[in-house]
Formats: sequence, structure tokens, C-alpha cells
Amino acid sequence: MERLDKILASTGRWSRREVKELVRAGRVTANGGTVRSPEEKYQREGLDLRVDGQSVLCARYTYLMLHKPAGLVSATEDPRQPTVLELLPEHLRKIGLFPAGRLDRDTEGLLLLTNDGALAHDLLSPRKHVDKTYFVQVDGALDQSDVEAFRSGMTLGDGLVCLPAGLELLEAPDEAIVTLREGKYHQIKRMLAARGKPVRYLKRLTMGPLALDEGLEKGAWRPLTGEELDQLR
Ligand code: URA
Repeated sequence: MERLDKILASTGRWSRREVKELVRAGRVTANGGTVRSPEEKYQREGLDLRVDGQSVLCARYTYLMLHKPAGLVSATEDPRQPTVLELLPEHLRKIGLFPAGRLDRDTEGLLLLTNDGALAHDLLSPRKHVDKTYFVQVDGALDQSDVEAFRSGMTLGDGLVCLPAGLELLEAPDEAIVTLREGKYHQIKRMLAARGKPVRYLKRLTMGPLALDEGLEKGAWRPLTGEELDQLR
């Protein structure tokens, strides 16, 4: 159990003094009832906390699904280029969120932002073999020889040794779904460049059980649902 002022202040949106004022003004509800004192204690997990009727994300850790657009780097800070964190409102930039796994600046698609280091570590650990799938468009036409090369595990001219990977051909000859169990630097681009079919467009569709919500526009995000989180854990 934790004090309500601590829980609300940890969202990065209000100071403890502001929380006190919100409570005094009767603007805060917890599990449906108006909160009377900032010192009241609640269980964070599953808490339905609202300010002016608006739900507040207050679980210990935050998990956001982001539809990354091209043009932003998957980092929390960068001296020269805008980062994916700039898509979030101010208060969500203050709670330690970071991207669990990187996408190149020009790659789009599913990115998980969280401040749960343990979960991110598990998801990214090579030993856990979490599959990631990508939609890819290349210059050139993909064929069965590319599928075989991916399946047998490629060793690239630059020395990169790749685990066996999936390449599923789609109707358009320049499009495919790639499945990777690892995430080395520019991996798909390097694998396809080695096949003489450089990547023109790349979009991540899934990470383990998590699939990009097709309802999310590029640049949009939403919290993971309870079900998605259960599947990830
Ligand atoms: N492979 C790449 O080449 N780039 C990405 O962003 C992800 C996988």
C-alpha cells in the first residue's frame, strides 16, 4: 500500500503540493470513491485513479506501444536528432521510459517504451529468443534462394554470423515478412544487401506476443492492455 500523494506525484504530472490541492478540491477519485486525504493508502496494482474523471496511469511501471514513424531515433537522448520520446507528452518524458529494443531512424513500426528494466532485459536477451517480425520492401525481386539463405543462417561478408531467420515471400515480388530471433545492428538491411536486394522500406510488426495495433497512426501510442502485458510477462 502506498500513499496517494506519492502515487500521483510519481506520474510526473503533479508535485505533492499540487496533489494536496487536487484532493482538497475533491477532484481525485480512487476505485470510484472521492479521495478525502492525500495520505490515504492504496494498492497501486489495478488501482483506478482519476483526476477530473480522467484516468491516470499510475502503475509502478509504464508500458506504451508506439507506432514509430521514420525520422526519429530510438533513444532517450540524442545531441543532434529528435528521439521517439518527443512523441510523448511532457509528463511521460519524466518517468524514465526508454525504448525496449531499437529500430533504425528510417524504420517504422512497433516500439515498446517502458521503464521496467527487468522486462526489457528479458525481452531483448538473446537467450530468450523472442521472435520479431518485419514487413520489408526491397529493390529487386525476392525468390526461393533468398528464403533458403535466410533459413540456413547467413554469414555476411562483413563477418556477421546470423542465426537462421524466416523470409516469407508475399504476392508482390519485392515484399516479404522477415522473422528474426536476434537484433544485430542494421541486421535485416545487411542480410538483404548481401543478397543484392537492398531494403527500401522496413516496418516492425511484432515482438514476441506483441503486435502493432493497426488502429495506431504513425507517431501515435497507447498503454499496453492488461492482456498484452500478461502475455509479455
Ligand atoms: N533490421 C534493420 O536493418 N533495421 C531495423 O531497424 C531493424 C532490423
